[in-house]
Amino acid sequence: MLIKGGEVLERSRRVTTVLFDKTGTLTRGQMSLVDVETIAGESPDELLRWAAAAEASSEHPIAAAIVNAARGRELPAFDVESFEAVPGHGIVARAGGREVIAGRRKLMSDRNLRLSPSLEAQAEAWEALGRTVVFAGWDGDVRGVLAVADTLKDGASEAVAGLRRLGLEVVMITGDNARTAEAIAVEVGVGRVIAEVLPQDKVTEVRRLQEAGEVVALVGDGINDAPALVQADLGIAIGTGTDVAIEASDLTLISGDVEGVLTAIALSRRTLRVIRQNLAWAFGYNVAAIPLAAVGLLHPVIAGAAMAFSSVSVVSNSLRLRRFGRRVHSSRGKSL
Ligand code: ADP
Ligand code: MG
Repeated sequence: MLIKGGEVLERSRRVTTVLFDKTGTLTRGQMSLVDVETIAGESPDELLRWAAAAEASSEHPIAAAIVNAARGRELPAFDVESFEAVPGHGIVARAGGREVIAGRRKLMSDRNLRLSPSLEAQAEAWEALGRTVVFAGWDGDVRGVLAVADTLKDGASEAVAGLRRLGLEVVMITGDNARTAEAIAVEVGVGRVIAEVLPQDKVTEVRRLQEAGEVVALVGDGINDAPALVQADLGIAIGTGTDVAIEASDLTLISGDVEGVLTAIALSRRTLRVIRQNLAWAFGYNVAAIPLAAVGLLHPVIAGAAMAFSSVSVVSNSLRLRRFGRRVHSSRGKSL
């Protein structure tokens, strides 16, 4: 855990809401294709082949899932003539003489592709299971839908439960569809979801929570959430994310382990408690001993020893924090 200075610990202590980015933070962000459904007259492999042609130029983890699946089925690739990534929506590409569009529902209607009721029904069913659905089509019609699945990170549910036990509100934010997001939120134990947020609007959502009086920690991987990491009162980067995330954040969890969020907030609270105890000890000694020494009731040797002992007690009390991380991990945060 990399902490950029003591002031960060002080801010961690005041956090009231922890906002988690979904993809790559609560989930692994390594997606895989699990199902394909097409309209009549289109084969699933053909659809996958065209979708992969469009996605070949995208850096999105969804794109990687589709391209890998096409490669796994040994479908020959098309030559891509041109492409346009539409951030938070999908991709439009020219391949094999066709304009292929792949992405979310909204992109289909924006590009005037007709979506059949049966494909819509299939998409909704997958979304209710927490799958992300990619719609793909050309020449005026959505030709098929592809279901992509991500998995929760180890410890994600434990981290969320631990934060809630500390009395914090936990919220998930994502560009993904509301139905998909809701299904994943239930699985991980998050009570509140802000879904279908465009990349540039994540920072607005953080600001909105702050205006409502919340002190916000945002946990993200920097893939389209770097500005929001800066806006948050406490920006926490997942170390497996991008360099820009680490640069934009106050705190970095190098291992990519989300339970570090819980450790950081609990550690900051514990640190403050130790600071207060130390103050109480040091003041106590001085308030009692100085007047005694002043009126001559304390032998100078004893006064000197008491002075030294006050420093020793403060230092030993502080050193107890060294054991903190180990205790949290062995008990998975339960004894906080
Ligand atoms: P997240 O907040 O989960 O990181 P993004 O803002 O990157 O999500 O994307 C939001 C949604 O837009 C995705 O869930 C997906 O439906 C769609 N999308 C974005 N890029 C692509 C792509 N290359 N191919 C297909 N769908 C995409
Ligand atoms: Mg993301």
